[in-house]
Amino acid sequence: MEEGDKRASFAPASQFSLDLEIDFAASPVGRQTRRTVFDEDSFRTELSTARTFGFLHEVELLKKYGLARGGSLDNAIVIDGQKILNKGGLRFKDEFVRHKLLDAVGDLYMAGRPIIGQFSGSRSGHAMNNQLLRALFAEESAWIEVGMPTPQAATGISGSVFKPRQIAASAIV
Ligand SMILES: [Zn+2]
Repeated sequence: MEEGDKRASFAPASQFSLDLEIDFAASPVGRQTRRTVFDEDSFRTELSTARTFGFLHEVELLKKYGLARGGSLDNAIVIDGQKILNKGGLRFKDEFVRHKLLDAVGDLYMAGRPIIGQFSGSRSGHAMNNQLLRALFAEESAWIEVGMPTPQAATGISGSVFKPRQIAASAIV
């Protein structure tokens, strides 16, 4: 998928891995890249605690419309100009891209099966990740559904977490 300067793609791989670039040049977020091979351990230690982030003017707007009601400095990073307003600062230097990876994991989980394949994104977000899944499934020759005899070996995740079938990307979409 491509749209302006946004990009997202799948490629065949033996594990579920994600590669992401974000670029918010004019803010403290800046340009960050990170690659993660997804398993229970990397999810827990690298991604699960990476908070969402927003810019103060957006937060004020969201609140005005009754949105983001649970959002606060306790659970989100808020940026005002060049400043990060959270007292404790960041949990990781690249917390921003880690959170976007976490977003992508959730978006791709909507496939309904674990994916064995490589996701790559550049400035992609929820909408494009969803379009990418739709494009993948629209092209039947681009994927196969396979059984998962040893779930732990294939994904690093115990079989009880996901249904024991998965989708492997077999061509670039
Ligand atoms: Zn998010």
